[in-house]
Amino acid sequence: MQWIAGVVHTHQQSLRLDPSKLRSAMVTPMRVVVDYDLCESNALCMAAAPEVFEVRDDDFLYVLQENPPEELRAKVEEAVQRCPKQAITLED
Ligand code: SF4
Repeated sequence: MQWIAGVVHTHQQSLRLDPSKLRSAMVTPMRVVVDYDLCESNALCMAAAPEVFEVRDDDFLYVLQENPPEELRAKVEEAVQRCPKQAITLED
């Protein structure tokens, strides 16, 4: 009987965890991969997600964050869609 009570108690404790902390602990960070052989440095990805992509004066694309936080997922996905060369891959 006490064992059952302990299980219930443990279960109740897990429900008290902060959902945002639990989510971030469980989510594997995404990974941005660029095929530089395909990239034509037109900066369309930079327009969608400047926190992650930057085309510099040397006309090369730089990935500023290879593992961007979840908050940037929508922007990175937009960059993937905008890329006319399909040079960006998002791995989870
Ligand atoms: S949108 Fe595609 S082709 Fe253009 S700079 Fe970004 S990765 Fe390169």
